[in-house]
Amino acid sequence: MTFVAYGVFGLIIGSFLNVLILRHGERSVAGRSACMSCHTDLAWYDLVPIMSWVVLRGKCRMCRASISIQYPLVEAITGVVFGVIGYASLPLSLTILALPVAALLVAIGVYDMRHLLIPDLWAYGCAACAFAGACMAVWSGYVAIGVPLLMIEGFVTALPLFIFWLVSRGTWMGLGDAKLALSFGWLLGIQAGLYAVFAAFVIGAIVSVVLLGMSSRGGRWIWARMHIGCVGADTSAWTMQSEIPFGPFLVLSCFLTWFAMLYGIALPFFPW
Ligand SMILES: [Zn+2]
Repeated sequence: MTFVAYGVFGLIIGSFLNVLILRHGERSVAGRSACMSCHTDLAWYDLVPIMSWVVLRGKCRMCRASISIQYPLVEAITGVVFGVIGYASLPLSLTILALPVAALLVAIGVYDMRHLLIPDLWAYGCAACAFAGACMAVWSGYVAIGVPLLMIEGFVTALPLFIFWLVSRGTWMGLGDAKLALSFGWLLGIQAGLYAVFAAFVIGAIVSVVLLGMSSRGGRWIWARMHIGCVGADTSAWTMQSEIPFGPFLVLSCFLTWFAMLYGIALPFFPW
């Protein structure tokens, strides 16, 4: 029941994240949602998370233009993530601070996939919520670390990516990735935070190989039918030189590490 209640809340937040991701830097999140193609205002029954997209089979009610699968995916992912966090036996105060971190991580991952950019406000907001959560965890006795360590955790986990950014002058890595990794230290602690950063490279390498495979003819056919409007949606352009956003891998890696910790699941190659 806990899982379902938090999951449903996550679906609703996911629906809001879609609006945030779509409108960031362009227009206010207030105001009605409309079809991107025919500009018809959407009614409440067009905005039920996941259900509306499934019932309309991914097409606008009026003009039949395709609606990206990104919308139900973001809702579903946020629903699952909220459910998993809510179901873990955390003190309520920590759960309340964990949910905005999770929501911002989802938004950052998807936004970076679409625009190869991580909005500063979201990365810092995520770090601030994670820091508040870490303070609460220490204050309530849930985690036992000293205050000096608590203060630097985020900076330690961001440091490797910051160095990569500095050394490569921004060609290997954006500064946004380092800002995103700030939250890892306060969310996961230094060891698990660094583990999540390095696991992101492993996941990224595996996915890159798969994407190169998908630039073959069969892969292109499947990808084209998914209507994902992100950077690199044109698979024929995927080569070894393609710029692949790193944020989604960081986010995925962070969630996997976080959930493994919440449920006491052993992490592969975790050295501590
Ligand atoms: Zn339409």
